[in-house]
Amino acid sequence: MRIALTVGHSLLKNGSYTSADGKKNGGCNEYVWCKAFSKQLAKNLIKEGHKVTCIICPEKKFTSYKQEKDYKLNIINNGNFDLVIELHLNAATPSAEGTEVLYKSTAGKKYAEHIQTQLAKIFKNRGAKQRNDLYILNGTNPPAILLETFFCTNASDYKKAKGHINRNKIAKLIAKGIQNAI
Ligand SMILES: [Zn+2]
Repeated sequence: MRIALTVGHSLLKNGSYTSADGKKNGGCNEYVWCKAFSKQLAKNLIKEGHKVTCIICPEKKFTSYKQEKDYKLNIINNGNFDLVIELHLNAATPSAEGTEVLYKSTAGKKYAEHIQTQLAKIFKNRGAKQRNDLYILNGTNPPAILLETFFCTNASDYKKAKGHINRNKIAKLIAKGIQNAI
């Protein structure tokens, strides 16, 4: 498959991230983790025979998070992709934990559920969820899923996702989930 792998959020011109930051709770910055993770996930997807295009918003160029949407949708909808995967981390009070994969379409649901099953081997299973209010799920021609891999605001979730080895474990599970869905 031709997969568009997008990193949610961006680093704005003024130096601030548009993502959540769980560092003060012993967690991590959502954008920073997802950007590092995207490289490892791309490698694992390529290993399975997919063609992967990584989409990361240009850093220190945008002045508002609103520019992220047009930038990403333009690339996705002018490319010839079979699937869109957007990377996020959840954020809430420090005790909230676990993994969830969001989808809108029936085609997206199949991928979401298989990835959810795999990610639940590491994180608390919050279930795959249908959402109708997210532009990455609404605005793309190919089916899209949005991964809220864990809570960046939860210290024990982050412990399981910190560093290269843990990230690679998670990337392998997601690649396996996609294989199971095909
Ligand atoms: Zn996010």
